[in-house]
Amino acid sequence: MKTNIFPLTHKDALVIVDVQNDFLPGGHLGVPAGNEIISPLNCYIDIFTHHGLPIFATRDWHPTNHSSFQSQGGLWPAHCIAGSTGAEFASALKLPQNVTIVSKAMVTESDVYSAFEGTTLANQLHARRIERLFIGGLETDHCVLNTMADALSQGFHVVLLQDAVRAANFQQGDGQAAIAEMIRYGAQPLQLAG
Ligand SMILES: [Zn+2]
Repeated sequence: MKTNIFPLTHKDALVIVDVQNDFLPGGHLGVPAGNEIISPLNCYIDIFTHHGLPIFATRDWHPTNHSSFQSQGGLWPAHCIAGSTGAEFASALKLPQNVTIVSKAMVTESDVYSAFEGTTLANQLHARRIERLFIGGLETDHCVLNTMADALSQGFHVVLLQDAVRAANFQQGDGQAAIAEMIRYGAQPLQLAG
């Protein structure tokens, strides 16, 4: 494992988006090959922990009657119901004890893809003087894309962990298009093996 691939500073944080059972293969909204990101994410967790830098893990955390569910006229099968097994972080993901958990989309009426929307994430980052976010997780073409777009529009520098994202790809090519869009917005791509 290379640990010197980028110079980290005390203004950096790791943000892991929605690595929950329901978004992994076999889950209610499983992402193809979503489990493949866990190993690289664990490497990033090791690196950030080693440097004493903060780690944030976001999670979809829905009420049982969430408006995004098909039973309520929404787009998705029921998923990530607060407190359910499907909403738990992947057990193989080695989140440190001092991880900061950010729950999102907890209000029945509104669905949100960005970890900044309706949460205190921005405030927590500002309080710690964080200026650059290293972002990975699920899915490239939904919650990662929207989280990254909000981070950039709020003035954070963003590094896209390209080996630690996977796309839903409901339309073929969505994931690649999302990556291109994030880079166009200003995200800097990075991968451990690169
Ligand atoms: Zn959701």
